[in-house]
Amino acid sequence: MKENIPIGFGSSCVHSGFEAEQHRSHLTPIYASSTYLLDSAEHAVALFTGEEKGNIYARFGSPTTQQAENKIAALEAFGLTDNHGNPLALKAIVHASGMAAITTLILSNLQAGEKVISHLSLYGGTQELVDKVLPSLNIQTVLLDMQNLDAVEEVLQKDKSIRMMYLETPANPTLQCVDMEKLTALAHQYGCKVAVDNTFATPYLQQPFRYGVDFVMHSTTKFLNGHGTAIGGVLIGKDMEWMNTKVTKHFRLLGGNSNAFDAFLLINGMKTLELRMQRHCSNAEKVAAFLHTHPAIAFVNYLGLESHPHYALCKKQMRHPGALMSFEIKGGFEASKKFINQLQLCTHAVSLGTCDTLVSHPASTTHVGVARELRIQSGITDGLIRMSVGIENVEDIIHDLEQALS
Ligand SMILES: *Cc1c(COP(=O)(O)O)cnc(C)c1O
Repeated sequence: MKENIPIGFGSSCVHSGFEAEQHRSHLTPIYASSTYLLDSAEHAVALFTGEEKGNIYARFGSPTTQQAENKIAALEAFGLTDNHGNPLALKAIVHASGMAAITTLILSNLQAGEKVISHLSLYGGTQELVDKVLPSLNIQTVLLDMQNLDAVEEVLQKDKSIRMMYLETPANPTLQCVDMEKLTALAHQYGCKVAVDNTFATPYLQQPFRYGVDFVMHSTTKFLNGHGTAIGGVLIGKDMEWMNTKVTKHFRLLGGNSNAFDAFLLINGMKTLELRMQRHCSNAEKVAAFLHTHPAIAFVNYLGLESHPHYALCKKQMRHPGALMSFEIKGGFEASKKFINQLQLCTHAVSLGTCDTLVSHPASTTHVGVARELRIQSGITDGLIRMSVGIENVEDIIHDLEQALS
C-alpha cells in the first residue's frame, strides 16, 4: 500500500501495517528467531542505545510483531487527528495476553502509594489483579459508580494520589458503558491519565483516542484475532516519547512479550475485522430481539435495546451496540444450567469474539474469584448468561436458542 492514499476502515484492516521484506513475501512471514545479527560492534552499540532502529532480541519484538502492532495502531488511529490537525500517531506494543498488557500499563505508569480509579463490573481478571496483586505493591484501587460524574470529581479532588483512571466500556458482562468524553476531561483536569479497555468494542465500533484518552488496551484474544487461535494483548499509547522510553522499558523487563506465530495469526485475523464485526453485529441485533420477547427470559442486557440504561450513551460513542449480550433465564442458576446443557450449535466456553457463538455462565466461571457481594453489586447475578454472538447464519443461532429454551 502506498502511503497516505485515502482508504476506508475495512481497507485499512486488510492493508495497514504491512511492509514487504527482502524476499518479497506477500504475507508477513513468521520470524521464528530469538535473536538478530549484529553487523558490527558499532551497529550493536547504535541498536542498544536506540540511535538506530533494528531488531535485537525477540523479547523486544520482531518484524512479525511489529507489523501486527502497526496494523492495530493504524486501526485505533483511523481518521483521527492530533492537536495540530496531523494524523494521530500511536504506538502499539503486543503482549502475551491482555493481562500482560494491563500489567505493563499499570507498572509503567504507577508507583507505590499511587492509586487507580475505576468502576464496577470490570473483567474478572482485571478485578482480581486490582484486588489481589496490586495492593501488595501498595497500589490501591478506588471503585465507584462512574455514571455519577460529581462523585468521580469529588474523589479526584480529595485524593491527589489517584494517578490513573481505568475504564472498560462496554464492560463485561453487563454491557455497562461509561462516558469516555466526560470522564477523560475530568481526569485530565486533575492530572490523572486515562486508560480504556476496548476489547468488547474493537476499533471498528469505538475509538477511545477520539476522546483524548492516553492509553487503549485490548485482549487481542477476542475480536481482533477473531478465530480463537491465540491468547494475546496490546497496549497502545499516544505519547510517543513516554511509550518509547518508560513503557517500552517496563514491557521489555516484565517479559510479557508476544511471539511471531501469534502475531502472524493476529495479523491475518485483523484483516477481516470489519467484515466479521458487521456480521457479528447484525446477528446480535436479531438474537437480542428474539430473546427480549421470549417468555422464558427474565431480562436481556443488550446495548441496542432501549431498555438498557446505557442505550443513549452507546449511541453517542459507539458505531453499533456490538455482538455481546447477557441475559437471565426465569428460574435462576438451575434454569441456566439446563439451558446451557441443551445447546446444540452454540459453543459452551468462556472467551468471546470467535466465529462461533460462545455462551458462558460468568458467576461460576470468569467471575468465580470475585466476591459474591461485589459480583451481585456489579450486576452479575447467579443465573446470568453471557453470549458472544458469532457469524453463523442467524436463523441457526436463533433456532438453537429456541430449542434450548423450550
Ligand atoms: C479477555 C479479557 C481480558 C484479559 O485478556 P487475556 O487475553 O485473557 O489475558 C481483559 N479485558 C477484557 C474485557 C477481556 O474480555
